[in-house]
Amino acid sequence: MPSQQSGEFLQMSIKDLLISAERVAHVQIGNSLEHALLVLTRSGYTAVPVLDPHFRLHGLISTPIIMDSILGIERIEFELLERKRVEEAMNKSIPRININATLQSSLGHLVDHPFLCVEDDDGLFEGILTRRAVLMQLERFQLNKG
Ligand code: AMP
Repeated sequence: MPSQQSGEFLQMSIKDLLISAERVAHVQIGNSLEHALLVLTRSGYTAVPVLDPHFRLHGLISTPIIMDSILGIERIEFELLERKRVEEAMNKSIPRININATLQSSLGHLVDHPFLCVEDDDGLFEGILTRRAVLMQLERFQLNKG
């Protein structure tokens, strides 16, 4: 792609590709691991955000994280699913992208993460940016310009 066109793509606002918060499957702080496993299995997603009642992002919970946290020495301790809360197991060290960011500043994170959580200036969860949405946009861009 010529540099002017790639510049245009990289300067796009992530707002245009966002899956908005109300369309994102999530769990809440205080939910059990059992509930999170239900949400993950029913939705078919690999990981979902953990939010508080004010829609602030606290981390991500995934099926591998849940399985790891109920793994005993000799058996899987399924009874822990009911007892443990998502905040005891979730991954808290995740990239957070500001809603006013461009694609350029998000691409590096998308190499390592299939989706990124997006927040506003007050730290409220706005939605997610998926690697898939960015690649689809890149393809559209190539087709239009090609
Ligand atoms: P996709 O781009 O559809 O392949 O999604 C990649 C990952 O992003 C999924 O496995 C989920 O972890 C997450 N994801 C995508 N869409 C949603 C959604 N509507 N709600 C929650 N998580 C999602």
